[in-house]
Amino acid sequence: MIKIYSDVTTDYNIFEGKDPIELVEKYGSPLYVYNERIFRDKCREMKSLLKYPNFSVSYSAKANSNLTLLSIAQEEGLNVDAMSPGEIYVQQKAGFKPEQIFYISNNVSAEEMKYAIDNDVLISIDSISQLELFGSINRGGRVAVRFNPGHGAGHNAKVVTAGKNTKFGVEAKYLPQVKEIIKKYDLNLVGINQHIGSLFLEGTAYIESLKSLLSIAENFKDLEFIDMGGGFGIPYHKQEGQERLDLKKLGKEIDTIIFEWVKKYGREIHFKIEPGRYIPAECSVLLGTVHAVKENYGRKYAGTDLGFNVLIRPVMYDSHHDVEIYRKVDLKSDIKENVTIVGNICETGDILAYERLLPQIFEGDVLGILDAGAYGYVMSSNYNNRLRPAELLIKEDGTEKIIRRRDTLEDLIRNYEL
Ligand SMILES: *Cc1c(COP(=O)(O)O)cnc(C)c1O
Repeated sequence: MIKIYSDVTTDYNIFEGKDPIELVEKYGSPLYVYNERIFRDKCREMKSLLKYPNFSVSYSAKANSNLTLLSIAQEEGLNVDAMSPGEIYVQQKAGFKPEQIFYISNNVSAEEMKYAIDNDVLISIDSISQLELFGSINRGGRVAVRFNPGHGAGHNAKVVTAGKNTKFGVEAKYLPQVKEIIKKYDLNLVGINQHIGSLFLEGTAYIESLKSLLSIAENFKDLEFIDMGGGFGIPYHKQEGQERLDLKKLGKEIDTIIFEWVKKYGREIHFKIEPGRYIPAECSVLLGTVHAVKENYGRKYAGTDLGFNVLIRPVMYDSHHDVEIYRKVDLKSDIKENVTIVGNICETGDILAYERLLPQIFEGDVLGILDAGAYGYVMSSNYNNRLRPAELLIKEDGTEKIIRRRDTLEDLIRNYEL
């Protein structure tokens, strides 16, 4: 391989010395590659966020729910958040015990609630009407309520999940109704939770919302836990040297607040965080192949197999992913140029990177899309009847393992009834 532009993967040794072009030759393109060492590091970073002893991390598994990665998170001592009965099912298959799973529900049916109840999984309820439903089917049960502290955070309006413009959580002004329903159905409110949004790189909003959540907590004397939510951001602009979220500083600030608060509350209750993205995002590079290079009315395009069926974040949230370039043949160019990297889906919006200044790209180059481990494969689809890619794990001992095979053509017609 000739490294045309590969500083980040070299610095982090993401491929553990392996040649990404050989990986594509061996396992096909496109290919999600994960590094086990980095994944485990991120689990450990989150676990050491606080000095407060009664603290745990629930991995918000919707960010990446590959069975093998879930098992590794479980081995690392993380608990897990589920967003659906399907997630509960998969998480149990990965080895999580019911008491390690927290189902954060949102607008669900009685059947879905029953699925969690029958599996002894604790549910967080998201509205007054759903609390009423829960009470009516599980009188006397244990339950958590998700509050909306009134301010949110996030990299895009679509992922701000608290504040005045979102469907999530119960407003503090409905506290009397919450208490009333709890009393009516003899429910045991064991925890309260919040999640203000995704991808913050500085902690002010998180700290502010924690304070609001704590003031809500003071309304309930018998809580077992307070769940502060996720949203911890990662630097997607590594090639420009973007700063990381300062976890030491944030951890210290949170510690100060909760050590102080539990004195007032009178009990060292349990605190949780629920990071999604932070755990898997940076351990993964999505590899794809350039099949065409062309110019259309003055704009340069690199046409790849990385359509939005494979990675939808740029199309859905205008997200940025750094791009690296690897080349098999000894073809040199000193040119840097603006290039628009597109996929193979029949839609004009199928753009992975718009007018990106990069070293000249040639047909046959392999591209590495960085930080692809969160909201990558899980949001992929078979749109255009394309096959979802394989997922490859580079293990700590350096061996490679396919942890999810590529779709086959037969997979495309598996569920049809003729
Ligand atoms: C998605 C989600 C998370 C994780 O968000 P990240 O930004 O990926 O950390 C945490 N909690 C809830 C309730 C979520 O819906």
